[in-house]
Amino acid sequence: MLKKAIHFLIREPDEIGFDNYLILGLSLLSAILGLLGVIINLTLRLSWFTTLTTVVVTLVFTIIYLLCRIRQKFTISKYIMIILSLAILNVQWFINYGSTGPIIYLFVIIESFIILLFEKREKFIFTLVVIVNISILFFIEYRHPALIGHYSENSARLWDLYFGALIYLSLTILLLQVAMSFYFRQNEKVKLADKLKSAFLANMSHEIRTPMNGILGFAGLLKRPNLTGELQKEYISIIEKSGIRMLNILNDIIDISKIESGLMTVSITETNINEQIGYIGAFFQPEAEEKGIDFSYKCLLQAEETIILTDREKIYAILMNLVKNAIKYTDEGSVELGYEKKGGHLEFYIQDTGIGIPKDKINTIFDRFVQVDLVDKMLRQGAGLGLSISKAYIDILGGHIRVESEEGQGSTFYFTIPYTFVPKSENAQNN
Ligand code: ADP
Repeated sequence: MLKKAIHFLIREPDEIGFDNYLILGLSLLSAILGLLGVIINLTLRLSWFTTLTTVVVTLVFTIIYLLCRIRQKFTISKYIMIILSLAILNVQWFINYGSTGPIIYLFVIIESFIILLFEKREKFIFTLVVIVNISILFFIEYRHPALIGHYSENSARLWDLYFGALIYLSLTILLLQVAMSFYFRQNEKVKLADKLKSAFLANMSHEIRTPMNGILGFAGLLKRPNLTGELQKEYISIIEKSGIRMLNILNDIIDISKIESGLMTVSITETNINEQIGYIGAFFQPEAEEKGIDFSYKCLLQAEETIILTDREKIYAILMNLVKNAIKYTDEGSVELGYEKKGGHLEFYIQDTGIGIPKDKINTIFDRFVQVDLVDKMLRQGAGLGLSISKAYIDILGGHIRVESEEGQGSTFYFTIPYTFVPKSENAQNN
């Protein structure tokens, strides 16, 4: 419950980045501390000037927090926050009797935030500002000690100083803890990514070697003298199949690296969805028949409604991947492909009566290189890239993919894409 509330208030560093997380947390903390200050000021009936400054500070930090939380204006908030904090420190330094009070040490904490929040140039400039600021304060106090007041009693000074030290200590601990936990989490992520990459390489070399061995082995067999025409045909067909399998793997690798490096482009054209479904149906019908699976496809939209603006190649690739999987992971029963219009989206479904996906694996199958550990995995070749490529394409197109599955019963993959209908008259013009 508490975790949920904290997550709602300041999100997760993984979601918004460490520096933004720090800004959110810091502005919220400052707003809460400010509010506490206002309450204390009012109860102790302190001077109106002190109370007013605390009210203004609380308001400004609340606005900064809301700007970040609701409008995601992190950069501007970062600058306002540091400048405002420096201004408050200067006023507080003055009110709290200069170097006899604890405020001067707060500059160290401000500098820690500057180091964590800013990049090279800004970091340098703000650090310089802090150094100049401290030098000016030194100069003022050195030259005009009379300007700075004195604690009326030594006990008040001691309270202020030691209480301040404890607060700064807590702030430093909090800051270092947050920074360290973020660092460790990032480190874990890098390690996991590294592990997946190694597993991927091992799997890839198997995936590439198998068809390569097929090609080389059967090419060697073809050289044998006195080979019957029948055998020759069979060997050539195996070589062909192995070649296609290898080409598919290479295409997948190229696609995933394009996606990862952000080089994947989108080409939006008028696309006839029924036509795409028809192609996929015709392509997979023979394979399904050969496996003894009942394969059907449904187009629920009228012919004139089915032309939309989208990336045809990507839709085709997504459907290819999902139907290929459905047939690959189904040994008997049926596979059905279809789509319907739901609000501003088209929702496609690919339903199979295959082996299904275990509950604990369902959340990971869209990750790169992940394959559910099957006993007969070798029987069902694959590199574990198809679903992650499909998911990336659907994300690029502005849609969403999900799966419902029961182990041993079958799976249904659903995905949506925005429905941007091209009216018939426009179709006619373009044709
Ligand atoms: P692969 O090349 O291994 O098929 P994918 O990324 O396409 O890679 O799929 C990842 C994993 O998800 C597969 O290894 C398989 O375990 C599981 N999977 C995908 N589609 C289905 C399905 N229709 N039925 C059962 N399991 C599936």
